[in-house]
Amino acid sequence: MFVRQEIARMSGYTPGEQPGARKIIKLNTNENPYPPSQTIAPAVATAVQAGLQKYPDPHATAFRACAGDVLGFDPEWILCGNGSDDILTICTRAFVGSGETIRFPHPSYLLYKILADIQGACVETVDFNTDWTLPDKFAAPSEGLKLVFLPNPNSPSGTVLSPERIAELARQLDCPLLVDEAYADFAEVNCLSLVREHPNVLVCRTLSKSYGLAGLRFGFLVAQPEVIAELNKVKDSYNCDALSIAAATAAIHDQAWLQDNRRKITAGRDQLANGLRELGFNVPKSSANFVFAIHPTAKAKDLFDALKSQGVLVRYMAYDRWPEGIRVSVGTPEQNELLLDMLRELTA
Ligand SMILES: *Cc1c(COP(=O)(O)O)cnc(C)c1O
Repeated sequence: MFVRQEIARMSGYTPGEQPGARKIIKLNTNENPYPPSQTIAPAVATAVQAGLQKYPDPHATAFRACAGDVLGFDPEWILCGNGSDDILTICTRAFVGSGETIRFPHPSYLLYKILADIQGACVETVDFNTDWTLPDKFAAPSEGLKLVFLPNPNSPSGTVLSPERIAELARQLDCPLLVDEAYADFAEVNCLSLVREHPNVLVCRTLSKSYGLAGLRFGFLVAQPEVIAELNKVKDSYNCDALSIAAATAAIHDQAWLQDNRRKITAGRDQLANGLRELGFNVPKSSANFVFAIHPTAKAKDLFDALKSQGVLVRYMAYDRWPEGIRVSVGTPEQNELLLDMLRELTA
């Protein structure tokens, strides 16, 4: 084949299944079970009426102004992306040359390794401690280290590190520390305020999970303006389209929707975590919209297969050096209850 060695050697990212059948209950990719804000459809209709023959605003100015108001940053601190995966790609391309190194914790988001492989970069992983804290060596100096990814809350565990701990890590690192806050809207803490004090702290957010907009593809980065200015040179000129900018702006404007959704999801998370613990699962305290469940005896793969055959999709997670488990996205109360009923039978 004609592709670069790096591409030929790597295996691509495998997204969670997207079943065609509609009676499947889908708790495998951390989507929001509730429809997004009702303000979105009219905003998109207005953008269509305004005409799609022109290119979109390359800097998504309307979104940055609105997100800046909500989060307390001037717009030049914000960079928008076609999903936060696009932000992660832009940062990888901007900071890491081929042969240089990207570090991230293990187990965590599987995309980081793929991005490193595409870039021809080296990967250094640091295992979480068994209580899902990180050892100091996560911030140790290392030859050629150019970028550190830290999902917080983490996936698959749902666990969160304190901003104080992350500030400590940032002070020791002399490269960018990208805190991937895909799930931070479901947590009690986040690292936005660290961005002001630490030029090497970058915070990435997505509308896919907490705003119920995985189908839209919109994410953004908060970092110091000097960093954003450099990253702007790397992104595709029109990486966000006119319809997604309109929809994302309406979504982030509707903070009442977010707060209401957050209440429902965190209640569902308690329902799931408590129910699973009653069935004997070990469930780390989650600050995200999913829980990670490890059963002492029942095999995770068997549970996954049995649930799937009954029309419920969860994510089977097997990582090197880690007990395998199932990751279950928070559904509606009815979906959560149904899953718990099935697992009660399967683990009895
Ligand atoms: C879902 C997820 C993302 C990707 O979000 P998109 O905006 O949909 O690309 C990034 N990081 C983590 C840890 C995620 O779980």
